[in-house]
Amino acid sequence: MTQDMTPVLLSDSMTFACGPDNMCFNDCCRDLNQALTPYDVLRLKNHLNMRSPAFLQTYTARHFGPASGLPVVTLTLNPATGYACPFVTQTGCAVYPDRPASCRLYPLARAISRCRQTGEIREYYALIQEDHCKGFNMQGTQTVGQWLAGQDVAQHNRNNDKLMELIRLKNRMIPGPLSDDQSNLFYLSLYDLDEFRQRIFSRNLLDGLGVPASIKDQICTCDETLLDLGLKWARYQLFGIVMDDFYQ
Ligand code: SF4
Ligand code: SF4
Repeated sequence: MTQDMTPVLLSDSMTFACGPDNMCFNDCCRDLNQALTPYDVLRLKNHLNMRSPAFLQTYTARHFGPASGLPVVTLTLNPATGYACPFVTQTGCAVYPDRPASCRLYPLARAISRCRQTGEIREYYALIQEDHCKGFNMQGTQTVGQWLAGQDVAQHNRNNDKLMELIRLKNRMIPGPLSDDQSNLFYLSLYDLDEFRQRIFSRNLLDGLGVPASIKDQICTCDETLLDLGLKWARYQLFGIVMDDFYQ
């Protein structure tokens, strides 16, 4: 398989169309190595109406990066189906409204950097051209920005950028691998959200941290607020950074 990556701007035009009429329909959902972000897991487990422990056990594999100790969560692929994604069907993606960010972006890849002076996040995109993807031969021209707008990926990007901030902080504060306990804490508070919620409340872990009752109520019912807490919890536990900005 050959792959070309070409940097592109949001204003660049992109001749590409994807849909069930393409002869390559679903080919991009096989033979892949699909890593999931915490926000991907949140959306998928809620789409399937599953709690996070059951979702993670049924659909994912976990390993820890040898150099960083950070958890890497990937979709479990079945060799008998050509390593197909567990959610691909003959008619397309069974979890389409809640598909992961990388599925939304494809055939684009996204990277970010933060401006030191202003703190502003800058985005960079590249076009991935692989042999199996015939969408570049189809009629359909739009700008890169228009393509992205049609993929409804902004909410994923916002949440995934918070993870990148945490990883950047980890690399600065703990350049080597996390300990097993630290790795497990990272996994629990970001990926295994329902278990994290249960432990937070059953062990009164927020007591003494000044968390307002209204925020506690939101953590009980809203997974996105819980994920925000998980990010701050990891920062607090791993680096001793207090959670004060949670309430600003
Ligand atoms: S989640 Fe959906 S779009 Fe993504 S690889 Fe699986 S079937 Fe394809
Ligand atoms: S055009 Fe590309 S992205 Fe669309 S179904 Fe075919 S391989 Fe997948």
